[in-house]
Amino acid sequence: MLKDFEKKIKKIIPTECGFSKVEAEGLNIVIYVDDIKSFYENDHLIKDLASALKKKICIRATAASRIDPESAIKIIKETIPEDANVQNIKFNPTFGKVNIEAMKPGLVIGKGGETLKKIIEKTGWVVDVQRVPTMESSTISGVRKSLLKEAEKRKKFLDNVGKKIMMRYDSPSSWVKMTALGGAREVGRSCFVVETPNSRVLLDCGINPDISDKSKMYPMLSDLGFSLSDIDAVILSHAHLDHSGFIPYLFAYGYDGPVYCTPPTRDLSVMLQMDYLGLVNKNSNLTPPYTISDIHKQLIHTITVNYGEVVDITPEIKLTLYNAGHILGSAITHLHINNGQHNLVYTGDMKFGFTQLFDPAHIQFPRVETLLMESTYGGKNDVMPNRRDSESMLIDIVKKTIERGGKVLIPVFAVGRSQEIMLVFEHYFRENDINIPIYLDGMIREASAIHTAYPEYLKAKVRKKVLANRSPFESEIFETVKGDRDKIIEGEPSIILATAGMMSGGPVLEYFKQLAPDDKNSLVFVGYMSPLSLGHKIQRGLREVPLVNNDGKIESVKVNMEVYNVEGFSGHSDRRQLLAYVKNITPRPNRVILCHGDENKVTNLAYTINKLFKIKTDAPMVLDSLRLK
Ligand SMILES: [Zn+2]
Ligand SMILES: [Zn+2]
Repeated sequence: MLKDFEKKIKKIIPTECGFSKVEAEGLNIVIYVDDIKSFYENDHLIKDLASALKKKICIRATAASRIDPESAIKIIKETIPEDANVQNIKFNPTFGKVNIEAMKPGLVIGKGGETLKKIIEKTGWVVDVQRVPTMESSTISGVRKSLLKEAEKRKKFLDNVGKKIMMRYDSPSSWVKMTALGGAREVGRSCFVVETPNSRVLLDCGINPDISDKSKMYPMLSDLGFSLSDIDAVILSHAHLDHSGFIPYLFAYGYDGPVYCTPPTRDLSVMLQMDYLGLVNKNSNLTPPYTISDIHKQLIHTITVNYGEVVDITPEIKLTLYNAGHILGSAITHLHINNGQHNLVYTGDMKFGFTQLFDPAHIQFPRVETLLMESTYGGKNDVMPNRRDSESMLIDIVKKTIERGGKVLIPVFAVGRSQEIMLVFEHYFRENDINIPIYLDGMIREASAIHTAYPEYLKAKVRKKVLANRSPFESEIFETVKGDRDKIIEGEPSIILATAGMMSGGPVLEYFKQLAPDDKNSLVFVGYMSPLSLGHKIQRGLREVPLVNNDGKIESVKVNMEVYNVEGFSGHSDRRQLLAYVKNITPRPNRVILCHGDENKVTNLAYTINKLFKIKTDAPMVLDSLRLK
């Protein structure tokens, strides 16, 4: 196929541009030319190439025609306006690229890409513009450093992927089936495999963060029916560990292929996986399923895709990711299989409703035959109050607690609910001139920092603030805890946001142990609790909690603090929103398959969807296979 491409390219590119070679590199077709300046002098060339090859095209100057980095830096500095606030210029010769990190990437690009074009024409280096987060993020700088350092390995890997995608199958696929390996009639260890006679694609590969049942901790990869090295692609919907937490394991045991996700999902999952591994390593009852180097391997094998981009991931499957409204970078996966023989939409976790941070989940697709939908709050009684009521309830609890001299403890996930709740407080405190300290413990600050590197993934209102360098996450009401928790526990009335969200471990327990006995304090639940989690038990009325104290002994902690449950902040759709999603998704699917929900909720929702919309609806169990076509 590359040979065909070469012929077409030669016909389009004038000889004076000096076409040298063409490579399939990951999702891109890379065309090398000796005279990139004369190439760009013909405005229509790129368009002509894209429409002739129907692929994403990258034009690169041959190594010999690029000027030396030192002279290039001079030109770059002269060309980019000072206001762009460039922080870093790094060369990546393997890809013929120069990475320019700036506070204002728009100014590096210039009107209609003018500034970029100037740099490319004068230096031969293709510019990769990267936004500097307004809050420093060690995850982002680590990810960028690793990708640059491992450029050679990454190039080899991408060339390999490119070749595989360009292959031709002997005969077209005659069937499509899907098997649930985890996350079916349960929340946790989400993992589905979509299979045809020619391709094998994994949708998510998570762990169960609830460690009380070890037999359900990981997806059932042993029943895959083929070896891990035979998987063609892994698609990751979002960074939460119940979707991403087991991907490094694949790399530890023979997988060598790509992981497709959005750029923020790549960064957030590395952050969460590193944290998870740290916790497992500290817990003597658990065996770590993989090592840091496997997380690193996954990073080198990640190919990012933006919302709405249509990409070929195997010779017969096209992938498009859409906004899921759940957390930063969360995506709905659309698979177009075998020339449209079948179209599958997998929602991942999604919010079809209002949040401060994201637009509601996408619902318009070119085609849908099967909808694989989450059902976390699909139960009969899972109807949440509206957001305004939830917000005023939360504010009331805070006011009452602070007035009586107490502290408010809110267990949260580092990614998602933390930022949502932060925005609620930031807005209310600013409007009403209130000054109560809000402490952030766990990785909340780091997760918020990653949000500031991807403003285009946030709702317009928040995006504007981040772009104007007035990110609400940086408000001075927030203080990141750096060790001294006793001071906060003994100090003035305050609000404490701490991980883990279901109280399965993490700093929240340190606060809980000391704040629980005092009835002036409050504990507020704002997110999902799995049925076996400590959070759920306290929610349900457990008032004496056995916890390990500082001497390593089990101690019973009396819960005298007020316990509240404030629903409505969830990043998941409630029952009404799930039903509205099925009703409104276009085109209308022929079949709905439900996942990511406790058994009774999934089965009840399946029954209701079938009755209301007359659509065949399944609620498979783990290990069930369904033939889709
Ligand atoms: Zn999630
Ligand atoms: Zn989930």
